[in-house]
Amino acid sequence: MNLLKPTDKDTYAVIGNPINHSKSPEIHALFAENTKQPIEYHATLAPIDGFANTIKDMIGLGYKGVNVTVPFKHEAAKLCDVKSYKAYMAGAVNTMTFVDGKIHGDNTDGDGLLTDIQTNLGFPVNHKRVLILGAGGAGEGVFQTILDEHPAILTIANRTPEKAKNIVEKFSHHSMVCHACGYEDLDHQSFDIIINATSTGLSDTALPIPDSVFAEGCLAYDMVYAKDTLFMQQARANGAAVADGLGMLVEQAALAFKIWRKVAPDTQTIMKTLRQ
Ligand code: NAP
Repeated sequence: MNLLKPTDKDTYAVIGNPINHSKSPEIHALFAENTKQPIEYHATLAPIDGFANTIKDMIGLGYKGVNVTVPFKHEAAKLCDVKSYKAYMAGAVNTMTFVDGKIHGDNTDGDGLLTDIQTNLGFPVNHKRVLILGAGGAGEGVFQTILDEHPAILTIANRTPEKAKNIVEKFSHHSMVCHACGYEDLDHQSFDIIINATSTGLSDTALPIPDSVFAEGCLAYDMVYAKDTLFMQQARANGAAVADGLGMLVEQAALAFKIWRKVAPDTQTIMKTLRQ
């Protein structure tokens, strides 16, 4: 295990497996500089079967908190002594804070996505037809936060439709707004906001979705970042406004930083720096 000992500064880390690709250390270094907070932030690789022990060791060494990434978000939720409403509903934790021997768990993914879509990109969710593609951890993690904004329709489609159905059953309490389906059921349906929460962008795989899902004036959002994915190309060809997931990544990180440091970084400046 590659655990670094904290210095005299408050120390945080992102923990996952794999972890080398993570942009979180760079983002939190920019946040620290931007807010003049004297913190340290590391990337920590935990063994697949060693997440709980790694967290225990980090608490012992005096770490103040961690961001949790794939594949540990559900395991993190089980380890927490106290959970926020969002973390409880998602059953997943991406931000842990270590306070007086207790672990507090939050999930900032949904609010990070919403801030990017609504505030940064200017597409309000309220009364709109929203489609989530993908029912893995990311799709499930943002479902409740989107539902809380009262969309007109919230449909979740997945290659394995049962997983989408389970999410709707868990969150929607038989609401008429929520629907679950497979990709083949999307024919002749249109949406104002389409969020790709699958990992197909990473493998350059096309999703079998019809062009009709892209309503006039819609936003197509791919959670994968720093890549022009096949989903983004299809959306652009159908006249959609297109965005990648860098904004979500920065906004969810900023919310975690605020939980820890009680100060909000200027995400716009940081996003410009990262895009450069
Ligand atoms: P996950 O739990 O492994 O789920 C993967 C999802 O992709 C599932 O819905 C899976 O469908 C689907 N999928 C994979 N390969 C597919 C294919 N060939 N065709 C159709 N569907 C396919 O992963 P996750 O944690 O949800 O993450 C999903 C993506 O979101 C990742 O790329 C991740 O990097 C990104 N993400 C970005 C942010 C951000 O801040 N920007 C935050 C969280 C996640 P099945 O269920 O049928 O297998």
